[in-house]
Amino acid sequence: MIEVSNLSKTYMTHERGHSLREITANLIRRPMKEVQAVKEISFSVGQGEMVAFLGPNGAGKSTTLKMLTGVLHPTSGEVKALGLTPWKQRSEYVKRIGAVFGQKSQLLWDIPPVDAFYMNKAIYGVPDRDYIRTLDRLTTLLEVGDVMRKPTRQLSLGERMKCEFIMAMLHGPELVFLDEPTIGLDVIAKENVRDFIRDMNRQGVTFILTTHDLDDVEMLAERVIVINQGEIVFDDGLNVLRGRLGEKKAVRVTTDIPLPDMPMPGVAMIKRIHESEAELEIDLEITPLKGFIRYFNETYGIRDMSIEPLPIEVVMKELYIGSAKLP
Ligand code: ADP
Ligand code: MG
Repeated sequence: MIEVSNLSKTYMTHERGHSLREITANLIRRPMKEVQAVKEISFSVGQGEMVAFLGPNGAGKSTTLKMLTGVLHPTSGEVKALGLTPWKQRSEYVKRIGAVFGQKSQLLWDIPPVDAFYMNKAIYGVPDRDYIRTLDRLTTLLEVGDVMRKPTRQLSLGERMKCEFIMAMLHGPELVFLDEPTIGLDVIAKENVRDFIRDMNRQGVTFILTTHDLDDVEMLAERVIVINQGEIVFDDGLNVLRGRLGEKKAVRVTTDIPLPDMPMPGVAMIKRIHESEAELEIDLEITPLKGFIRYFNETYGIRDMSIEPLPIEVVMKELYIGSAKLP
């Protein structure tokens, strides 16, 4: 469905000075700066997949998605999606894809979303029957029947995002790109949006989404691609990502006496909650649970303790800083 090979994007920007002297000098000769946002990335996505495309800020996620949707030309490399080259066969391509860029609205500020939907219907040539059926289903699912009749500028962020989704889905796209689709949404709106995405995915729509919310990932994606500084550092199942954690566990413990920052060799403090309460990371291959409990009880006195799997956040952080080994 999507085949990406050696895709790269280098932005050329003018270096911006900060001091008055730099700014004045830049009026005459503005030095150019190269930013290699995406570096020779390759991956493929099959029909019906749901892929989370993750990475820290500035990693190159949006740049990649823009090239995949065809709004941005790559510096080099190839993309074949739905048999087309997005930036070359754009008009044919956009009829078959959907996109939501959380930071950038596709709705028009002064008119109600329902009118914008209707405009899209005309642009995409969606037959009346299909349009009515899809709109009906989506507005019921997302509960925006009344909301979509108000001017966009009067909507809350959550309401607007739901309408953005409808806008992106009305023409029945086979492939959908979501760039931070749940950004700024409250818990309930997030749930609705996730249900909606899941539902569409079950019906065979392929999704690629970026997000900073790891709950989105846990609830939606089976496959995770991690990009860091323009390069793919991980591409595999979410379960494999979890498996990376190996035998590591997160232990939350409350003790009788205060805990030092390094309470035990081989045990890392993830978060201190109080002076005698903390979240620790232990590697059971190095520190067996029995030994940990005995040492802790003898040294600090255990008052309360719970053991949980490490949150995927922790692995992500390791991938981001580049310390985690590739499989
Ligand atoms: P992400 O979405 O992962 O946060 P981006 O793709 O937006 O990352 O950005 C990747 C890198 O490219 C960053 O260093 C960013 O500053 C730079 N960048 C993004 N857009 C532009 C642009 N239009 N001009 C110059 N540099 C850009
Ligand atoms: Mg981005």
